[in-house]
Amino acid sequence: SASTNRSEQLTLMGAGLVGSLLALYLARHGHSVEVFERRADPRLAGPLEGRSINLALSDRGWRALEGVGIGDEIRRVGIPMYGRVMHDQHGSLTNQPYGQEGQAIYSVSRAGLNRTLLNLVEAEPGVKLHFNQQCLHVDLREQTLHLRDASTGQEKVQPFRRLFGTDGAYSAVRSAMQKTDRYNYSQSYLDYGYKELNIAPGPGGTWQLEKHALHIWPRGQYMMIALPNLDGSFTCTLFFPYEGPHSFATLQTPAQVQAFFEEVFADAVPLMPELTQDFFENPTGSLVTVRCYPWAFDDDVLLIGDASHAIVPFYGQGMNAGFEDCSVLNSLLDQYGSDWHTIFKEFQTQRKPNADAMADLAIYNFEEMRDRVADPRFLLQKKIESKISAQYPGQWLPLYSQVTFSHTPYAEALANGQRQERIMRRLMPHIHTEADYDQPQVQEMLREQMHQA
Ligand code: FAD
Repeated sequence: SASTNRSEQLTLMGAGLVGSLLALYLARHGHSVEVFERRADPRLAGPLEGRSINLALSDRGWRALEGVGIGDEIRRVGIPMYGRVMHDQHGSLTNQPYGQEGQAIYSVSRAGLNRTLLNLVEAEPGVKLHFNQQCLHVDLREQTLHLRDASTGQEKVQPFRRLFGTDGAYSAVRSAMQKTDRYNYSQSYLDYGYKELNIAPGPGGTWQLEKHALHIWPRGQYMMIALPNLDGSFTCTLFFPYEGPHSFATLQTPAQVQAFFEEVFADAVPLMPELTQDFFENPTGSLVTVRCYPWAFDDDVLLIGDASHAIVPFYGQGMNAGFEDCSVLNSLLDQYGSDWHTIFKEFQTQRKPNADAMADLAIYNFEEMRDRVADPRFLLQKKIESKISAQYPGQWLPLYSQVTFSHTPYAEALANGQRQERIMRRLMPHIHTEADYDQPQVQEMLREQMHQA
């Protein structure tokens, strides 16, 4: 508990989603925390305006936010999405619930969430925030940070005793660790990029598509998705190949973009009055997976969040995983007080296999979203799985639910999911309609499979 802690001076690099939440947790254990962040204070930019970018928040993220007492505050500005709505080429819609009745993932504003966390951090005694401070370089031996003030251009050297690298997928803290002996590191990019687009609000700030859903336009080799915002708009993201017959390379002019969207996303186009402008003004983002190990350097430095495990966004779990990192570290602080050596060691041993599993799941889910959700057989399988889940409570939870609506470690969720998928592969050839589930032959087979597993 906090009372057994020796108060220490801790340093965080990066005040993004994970850094700001971690600062709160560390301060509440009685430590004084200094946070350095490259960007300007986002709260000085005035009220949130213009394009909003949102994220899907689910159970793992909620638990970590509740741990610092802001679950309710964030929930009030989140929009529950109870399932997917698939849009086919002709504009016909299909629904697929995400979980049980009432279970939802929440669309929240990324900037709004970061601001709320920063407000809390600032109000927390013992935390100091320094904006416009870019980390150029970390010297692990000397235990110094080399910082550059983005507004004045001035550079300075800042000593640290214990450093948390919360500086995201392109972490400068990690770069220093990469140069240490026997450091494992890999990064790989998908052949796809993403482009954020916008669906405008309807009259009086109404939603022009079903508000409480995540919308998907699955098109086989590519897809578009949309998540609702509070102002009636939706943030769309097009996931699209860089090269090839339908790709960023082939969409070079506004006329090409307009024609392509009218052909493949016909029902969305009338809702996107600024389509071509957005397409050419907004950057094309790349999709990277970063794996590395170890995450700790002695008891001096720890990587956490995207700095240690950047994943592709298709399971909506990157931030949730980073927030879960904070919950795990918090428990270890409760358990081990000031024994940082053990805390760092335990943290990376527990989290690494789960981060690896989540990275694999995220890549797997891209295929599911862009391709399989358009297949009636796949949707039937999902319905059958939810029947199995109801019939065998405690023994069967669909993989999506284990990842999204549970706290089962990701690696276990993946293993359970693979086992269940093997069973479904045996069962599905005997199932052609939902009613087939009740056939004695199917039930017998299921009983056998459940018994073996
Ligand atoms: P970041 O949010 O990247 O924050 C890092 C911070 O460090 C930033 O503030 C940055 O300015 C600062 N920084 C970086 N370098 C330096 C430096 N050298 N010196 C000083 N400061 C520095 N996750 C979900 O859970 N659900 C979703 O729906 C979801 N959707 C996504 C959609 C897209 C298109 C993408 C790309 C990601 C998505 N994610 C989602 C993942 C999520 O964005 C990340 O996992 C999350 O932002 C990680 O938080 P972080 O604090 O570790 O890193």
